[in-house]
Amino acid sequence: MTVRMTSARKAILEELESSKAHLTINQIHERLSGRLPSLNVSTVYRSLDFLSQNGLISISDMGVGTPVYEIMKEETHHHLVCSSCKQVIELENDLVAPFFEQIEKEKKTKVITNHLVVFGICLECKEY
Ligand SMILES: [Zn+2]
Ligand SMILES: [Zn+2]
Repeated sequence: MTVRMTSARKAILEELESSKAHLTINQIHERLSGRLPSLNVSTVYRSLDFLSQNGLISISDMGVGTPVYEIMKEETHHHLVCSSCKQVIELENDLVAPFFEQIEKEKKTKVITNHLVVFGICLECKEY
């Protein structure tokens, strides 16, 4: 697959690659403003949309009030987020893959979610 890379798309991918974090659109825009001073938020938004449509990044609601974006690594991963203390726990793909396979089989639908976020209340928060 050849994906056409504009300088904005390339810079965003590189930023997500090096930060290895879940970043909001404003964080990405801020981090790139030194390098690409003319880059505006709507270009960042369109570039992120393009990159996620092409499976290069994930876009998720992790309970921070705005979507977060992350680079797609070779090994798919998912998360469990405590909705009270907001701690983020990684869910290994081995745990999630059987669930997706079951959905594909029973609902005859190809699952394209590449970064599942499950919300919960962690043990520490449950005790108070
Ligand atoms: Zn993640
Ligand atoms: Zn908690």
